[in-house]
Amino acid sequence: MFKKVTVSFLVILLASCASKLPASYIYVPYSASKVKVGVSVIETGYTCANESFIHEKGSLFSTHRSNNIAVYIKHPKGDFLFDTGFGSDYQDQLDNMAWPSCAINSHKHTKIAGNEVDAFGSKEDINFILLSHLHWDHVSGINDFPDAEVWTTKAEYDFAFSDDAKKPAFLKTDYNDPTIKWNLITFDSIPYENFDRSLDLYDDGSIILVPLPGHTPGSLGMFVNLASGTRYFFIGDLSFSEEAIQKNAEKNFFAKAVVDEEHKVVRQELNRVSFLAKKKPELIVVPSHDGSISLKIKQYPEFEY
Ligand SMILES: [Zn+2]
Repeated sequence: MFKKVTVSFLVILLASCASKLPASYIYVPYSASKVKVGVSVIETGYTCANESFIHEKGSLFSTHRSNNIAVYIKHPKGDFLFDTGFGSDYQDQLDNMAWPSCAINSHKHTKIAGNEVDAFGSKEDINFILLSHLHWDHVSGINDFPDAEVWTTKAEYDFAFSDDAKKPAFLKTDYNDPTIKWNLITFDSIPYENFDRSLDLYDDGSIILVPLPGHTPGSLGMFVNLASGTRYFFIGDLSFSEEAIQKNAEKNFFAKAVVDEEHKVVRQELNRVSFLAKKKPELIVVPSHDGSISLKIKQYPEFEY
């Protein structure tokens, strides 16, 4: 009887807690990865922008270091890059754009990921390049790694090769070389955090991919769970600013109009990630273009484990 009452009480308690959560949120217990995974950032370029241009709640008096990064992931089963940042064809790519935006041209091109890896390691160690999405500033360097496979989602691949993918955001010459070895990934119907689908890349809990559409139809995000307990969530261009995630703020209206494909979907995914960030303050959310966060991670050739 006591057990029955206790169980009933617990069920009611859990139900009342659960009812406070939006219905779509599913929580999966997180267990730290024991695998020695390393993470390192290569900043390939940056520009400085006013924070109010970055997101709708940004201060007029703050400056945002909008950088372009490649993330080097070192894993016992093989290394890979998450995005490439600017590559060695950067200037040709700019010249090839029909819309030479002053914002893009004002970028300072600092490093090329391919050269950095050549200098301090070996390109042969890079098994594949995993793309958050196929916008030009994320794929600019894939031709610098001719032997590496290129991984993306089918939705992203199909959109990037369609007529809807236009300059200056998409630059097809960055990724239409017929020798590129594509690998189109699919997510499993396994919830992770508050995502309905996920892909445990090495089946060891260290690198988990989740769909993060909206900015482009097939964008993805990447959780990196280090053995130290530190957890990163690389969110591509869902947002340009970690502060915006904390404030659940959308991009500036102009930026939104120019770069986001599906505004309602971006809003939905922003709600999801902001909710998760509040729920798990120890999780470090890393937008691709927020130097205030990515420069705190170890910079290549140093790694954080
Ligand atoms: Zn983008």
